[in-house]
Amino acid sequence: MPEGDTVRRLADRISARFVGERCIRSIARDPRIVHLDLAGSTLVETDAVGKWLLLRFDDGRTVFGHLRMDGHLDLGRRSPAPEWKRRLEVKFESGWMTAVDMPVIGVVATADEESVVGHLGPDLCGPSVPDIEAIVARLVEQPDRPLAAAVLDQRNVAGFGNVYAVETPFIAGVSPLQPVGSIDGLDLLVRAGSALIRTNAERGPQNTTGRRLHEAHHWVYGRRRQPCPWCSTRLEGMSERNSPWHRVTTWCPSCQARAELRTVDPARIERALTLHPARKRYPVETADDLS
Ligand SMILES: [Zn+2]
Repeated sequence: MPEGDTVRRLADRISARFVGERCIRSIARDPRIVHLDLAGSTLVETDAVGKWLLLRFDDGRTVFGHLRMDGHLDLGRRSPAPEWKRRLEVKFESGWMTAVDMPVIGVVATADEESVVGHLGPDLCGPSVPDIEAIVARLVEQPDRPLAAAVLDQRNVAGFGNVYAVETPFIAGVSPLQPVGSIDGLDLLVRAGSALIRTNAERGPQNTTGRRLHEAHHWVYGRRRQPCPWCSTRLEGMSERNSPWHRVTTWCPSCQARAELRTVDPARIERALTLHPARKRYPVETADDLS
């Protein structure tokens, strides 16, 4: 499932390819945009807010979309996907952009984009450094919620998907089931997650360990029943069906033991980030790091 970093990189790719180009023809098959005709409009900007993609045109319209689980965009040649899956096809001067299986797609006046993304919490992958204290304040508004459920709620913070909801608690040594209001040092956990996703949004791939081999990109995500990479305890997990927030999850019962009050271990986070370029952004991202 695409997360904020993936959508940000997609927006950048569309931008590099088509910004400044005029639309020659558009074919909309999604019933919500069936009257949309972009012919003659020029794409002036693309943006990502959380997991939402925004394409702004010079006629004051914004086409927006959310990829959810299965959606993707084909850029360049005409998409080979079956016609009924091509919800929107746009022919620019130099090639095609096709939204395939995109479950949420629509058009809104650029001045009204707030109606699409206004409900979202601070954006992790935006151009400005997110306000970590504001994110923490939102997270603890419902103190009894499990940590992973709270960070996946895009109204609290926009951008984290399930990979980060599994990996960030591991890095901070906190159970994904720990009630968010009983975590001391929650800001450090959010800072670590923010540093990772912002770095990955710029560089790709979606890597949380800093190791290069593809199978070593994540610490515990997708490794249920395997030994913990840090202490060798067998990892526990929940399936989508059993998880209270309906997403697969994995944790180490030893490193991430639940407690009445759980304290984030800053040394553990620093150790986890040793190999990852995100270490330059943790705990505080400064303007120098963006160069
Ligand atoms: Zn462990």
